[in-house]
Amino acid sequence: MQMPEESKIRVSIRFYEELNDFIRADLRKKPIIKELKHQTTVKDLIESFGVPHTEIDLILVNKESVDFSHRVHDNDMISVYPVFESIDISELTRLQKRPMRNLQFVADCHLGKLARKMRLLGMDVEFRNNFSDEELVFEVVKNKRVLLSRDRRLLMRKAIDRGYLLRSQNPDIQLAEVIRRFDLKNQLRPFTRCAKCNGILERVEKSKVLHLLEPRTKLYFSDFFQCQSCFQVYWRGSHFKVLENFITKFSQP
Ligand SMILES: [Zn+2]
Repeated sequence: MQMPEESKIRVSIRFYEELNDFIRADLRKKPIIKELKHQTTVKDLIESFGVPHTEIDLILVNKESVDFSHRVHDNDMISVYPVFESIDISELTRLQKRPMRNLQFVADCHLGKLARKMRLLGMDVEFRNNFSDEELVFEVVKNKRVLLSRDRRLLMRKAIDRGYLLRSQNPDIQLAEVIRRFDLKNQLRPFTRCAKCNGILERVEKSKVLHLLEPRTKLYFSDFFQCQSCFQVYWRGSHFKVLENFITKFSQP
């Protein structure tokens, strides 16, 4: 008796623009022919190449836009596009939720330096150096925060519907990446958030914090801000100058 031939699914998939950074060099910028033993969702197929779904804004299957749960079929031609910043694809199924204003972030436990820099620019970033993966997922799912991580596996979790995979290991470049990706250039508000604890800063009379200041600070500065949660005091000292230069540099077209 002849065994039935195993049915195979053969698809063609192509990654566009910077999504190619994630995939093997020999597969970049061209259609990849993939044979599948079982039918799978387009999310699982894409992530099998190492591309987290949080990086994707548009999937076309045979020129129609589909969502992540779409199941692939034999002969499908699949095109996968990254999150667009300025191209209008409103007619199609945009996969990342918008609008993304008043963004709140959660940074994984390796990103302490980035979290502090983001807070100095006024961004709301939850961070602890002992966050477990489950706690990070909780922050995303329950508190609607955007996960920042360099861990692809974590970003591939289905529950993570908002996230960004940082490319660089340098905290300054990471900060620039976040500002660019989420288009935050015009929304930075330095000295509104505590770098230490993410609390809210408010102006405070110099006389009320005098006992906390170094002699030189007492002498040269008159405007002070204090965290409403941990009472840390801030002023426009040299680190503020560095920050201002950074913002100016980053705001150039
Ligand atoms: Zn604080």
